[in-house]
Amino acid sequence: MRRFTALLLSLLLLSSLAACGSSGGSQSSMEAGSSSVGGEPSQSGASSSQAEPETPPEPEPYEISDPTVMPEGGVRGGVAYAAYDGVVEHLFFHPVVAYPELAFDGDYKSDGIDDWMVTAGEYWKILQSVYEKGYVLVDINDCWSEQTSEAGETRMVKNTLYLPEGKQPLILSYDDVNYYQYMLENGFTYKLIIGEDGKLWSWGLDPDGNEVTSRDLDAVTILDKFVEEHPDFSPFGAKGCLSLTGYEGILGYRTQTDSENWTAEREANRQKEIEAVRPIIAELKRTGWTFGSHTWGHISLNTRTYETVTADMQKWFDEVGSLVGDTQVLFYPFGGRLDGDDVKQSGPAFRWMQEQGFRIFCSVGIESWSKCKDDISAVICDRLHPDGTTLRSAKSRERYMKFYDAKDIIDLEARPQREVGWMT
Ligand SMILES: [Zn+2]
Repeated sequence: MRRFTALLLSLLLLSSLAACGSSGGSQSSMEAGSSSVGGEPSQSGASSSQAEPETPPEPEPYEISDPTVMPEGGVRGGVAYAAYDGVVEHLFFHPVVAYPELAFDGDYKSDGIDDWMVTAGEYWKILQSVYEKGYVLVDINDCWSEQTSEAGETRMVKNTLYLPEGKQPLILSYDDVNYYQYMLENGFTYKLIIGEDGKLWSWGLDPDGNEVTSRDLDAVTILDKFVEEHPDFSPFGAKGCLSLTGYEGILGYRTQTDSENWTAEREANRQKEIEAVRPIIAELKRTGWTFGSHTWGHISLNTRTYETVTADMQKWFDEVGSLVGDTQVLFYPFGGRLDGDDVKQSGPAFRWMQEQGFRIFCSVGIESWSKCKDDISAVICDRLHPDGTTLRSAKSRERYMKFYDAKDIIDLEARPQREVGWMT
């Protein structure tokens, strides 16, 4: 909800800028900034836009509308919306494999990538399948709200969503969208960039070392493209929530500090990377992406001390939160629950996280389970994980059948020759 307000504010800000432009106001630097993001690059000069007669402002590609505030049974844009109180499915991905021949080259990383990742081709097929099965994207931040009781206690409550009739809600989240060094060497894209068309593209190197900018090789740009082709997949403008660590920077930009051998030159480089990533963050937010924390050091929260956890998270706030803004979503590294398996009582580290503003705590499981805690204002939930382990498993194939049939998705020619449970 907070995010919704922030987006509304930024939309208002954008539209007021547009109004300034059309009335001949002298906001040239601001205009140039916003047109390079969303406008047609060939006409982005400030002088040409000032000379033009008054034209209706370009519609925002992702007008974020909150699915929880639709009037019951309302009709909008010819679409009937109906109340939905069922399970909100939640799938999470890691970065997708752009070049299987590098990812699955038999080195020591091959099996891990096979276990925890999908290829770009598999990912597109999964999106196509969930779309055809009637899922629509919703923002994780819209699924619960904080309410205050008469006694003054705050608790999270599950929202009724108002969805296009017959559709089911789907949250997507993406862990480790940091473009770690090991990924660069193993067939993943290197970073997100803004292309000449103002859209997000990925940049990287192909197996021959040639530079490649593309929208077909990265989980973020593939979803952007999919929603462009199927706008009804995202009726409210939502995309996914990007779960970020900090120890190797974010989104392919090396924004991290490193306490050892830190020099003025390295700090200057870091500042350059920080400036370079800002427009990427702004464009992601503008197009329906949100951010969550995955801790700074990808630490296992269920095994570390309170002191280690809080110090690590302070680093996350300093180096990542300072760039992506406030978030209420925490994604547990390795799926390790902050309080072990005790979901009833919130321990000191969990309480500390909640005091920092986190309300939605996501682990990993075999269903899209969620629970609003009784003792504190927080939701704990599990996500499903389309990846090699679940694509290969006979049991998982059944569990994931409501989204897709693993048999139609898995690329056995690209992946290593390992056991496929449902084939035996
Ligand atoms: Zn992770």
